[in-house]
Amino acid sequence: MNHPLSIDVDQIETIIWSTGFRFNYSWVDLPVFNEMGEPVHDRGVSRVDGIYFIGLPWLYTWGSGCFSGVARDAEYLAEKIIGKVLAII
Ligand SMILES: Cc1cc2nc3c(=O)[nH]c(=O)nc-3n(C[C@H](O)[C@H](O)[C@H](O)COP(=O)(O)OP(=O)(O)OC[C@H]3O[C@@H](n4cnc5c(N)ncnc54)[C@H](O)[C@@H]3O)c2cc1C
Repeated sequence: MNHPLSIDVDQIETIIWSTGFRFNYSWVDLPVFNEMGEPVHDRGVSRVDGIYFIGLPWLYTWGSGCFSGVARDAEYLAEKIIGKVLAII
């Protein structure tokens, strides 16, 4: 799979990483991964403002890796992002 050489993040306020459970973040230069290269997050919210993850196994519960549970995780992230936007305007 081809990876972009760079992304101009100045123009981007939110990224929701949803690349599946067989992930490869080796090309992502952001301080949101542990020494194993795994995302560090709290229910999909990373420590870098605007960077989110979804679709990971055990993102929140066992169901996070299944269709049945991902909707709840998506709703949670959407509320977080909407709350952030409303706080700005
Ligand atoms: C064998 C198997 C059976 C399953 N059965 C069930 C089931 O019965 N019920 C259920 O609820 N769940 C099931 N699941 C889980 C379900 O498939 C996943 O929860 C769901 O597919 C996750 O969706 P997603 O969009 O997060 O990730 P994915 O469906 O994995 O989609 C991620 C996409 O991102 C793309 N991608 C990754 N990296 C990059 C990149 N660098 N650049 C561009 N694109 C990229 C991938 O090619 C892929 O198309 C099963 C999973 C597997 C493996």
